[in-house]
Amino acid sequence: MIVSHGWAAQSAVVPLAPFNFFRRELKEQDVLVEVQFCGVCHSDIHSVRDEWNNAVYPMVPGHEIIGRVSEVGKGVRRFKAGDLVGVGVIIDSCRSCASCRAGEEQYCEVGATLTYGVKDRYGDLTQGGYANNIVAPEHFVHSISPKLDPAGVAPLLCAGITTYSPLRHWNAGPNKKVGVVGLGGLGHMALKFAHAFGAHVVQFTTSESKVADAKRLGADEVVISKDAAAMKKQASSFDFIVDTVSAPHDVNPYLEALKRDATYCQVGLPDKPPVIFPGHLIFKRRSWSGSIIGGMAETQEMLDFCAEKGITADVEVIPIQRINEAFERVVKADVKYRFVIDMASLVKG
Ligand code: NAP
Ligand code: ZN
Ligand code: ZN
Repeated sequence: MIVSHGWAAQSAVVPLAPFNFFRRELKEQDVLVEVQFCGVCHSDIHSVRDEWNNAVYPMVPGHEIIGRVSEVGKGVRRFKAGDLVGVGVIIDSCRSCASCRAGEEQYCEVGATLTYGVKDRYGDLTQGGYANNIVAPEHFVHSISPKLDPAGVAPLLCAGITTYSPLRHWNAGPNKKVGVVGLGGLGHMALKFAHAFGAHVVQFTTSESKVADAKRLGADEVVISKDAAAMKKQASSFDFIVDTVSAPHDVNPYLEALKRDATYCQVGLPDKPPVIFPGHLIFKRRSWSGSIIGGMAETQEMLDFCAEKGITADVEVIPIQRINEAFERVVKADVKYRFVIDMASLVKG
């Protein structure tokens, strides 16, 4: 067994605290990664606090992982010790269903194995990247360009691919008006990507204090979503809107902002369902949709695109000892725009 040192939640109501545990010995296709940085996703908070009613404890969260390969299994071909790599939200899937064969492992029909909080194919509870190391099959490990700041790359493994994938799927690009709802970890990556793809981008935010940042990050327009008159002005004008909001909110004004046949894509996953007026869909044949991360090939494509264009997340790097305070600040929408844990701060004991 491989010894791991991390920080875990023991229940939904206690803070994260140091926790030692074991990971499996490397199988033929496995890669052992020494974690350098791990992003703090709002999903970590939903999961730790059991807001989705599926938590299993002890839980070491973290699925925006960057580190160096320290050892590889006998059958590993793509990586060797010393390589800079990333691990994201899933670390396994069946590899044979129609979705897996299509390179959409995140939609695996048997169920993809999440990086933490589920039983893997060996019956072990998976544990995430708020730890000094992680084991993953090479198919779920990505190559990271040394050109980019590794702390800023970590959030690409979830916030990056979760926004890149739907923007590509629904063809955000030149001559398209694209909306981004919520300027947090996912939102600021959606904004950077939609801008990089050449779309006209409108950022919706509840935070007046974020307007200048939204413009700096690539927004052509910024709309304060609490301003009903400003929202009305956007009626029937969008080709695509991506909603990254973590808390329950009224989506109806955004549906009205879509053109005929346009799509509203939910990536934010609040703990309560929204109420939708079906007329907003019916009268303009609009679609309300959703998307989860991206496939493994698409994740590598996104990482390579970021290396080429110099795109990383805007991050506030913290030691692991500040993780509970960071959770509180994320919930208050007070992060610019992603916390990333520097794993060198971890005290092994
Ligand atoms: P985050 O950094 O906390 O950002 C969420 C943003 O939503 C906030 O910055 C804020 O933006 C806005 N917001 C928060 N509370 C709000 C409220 N009550 N009403 C309206 N707006 C509010 O979170 P994140 O890490 O980006 O994650 C966002 C959501 O995506 C979470 O639910 C997470 O679980 C989910 N997620 C889904 C996937 C997927 O694959 N589909 C992947 C990762 C995460 P403003 O200040 O600009 O209003
Ligand atoms: Zn995430
Ligand atoms: Zn599958």
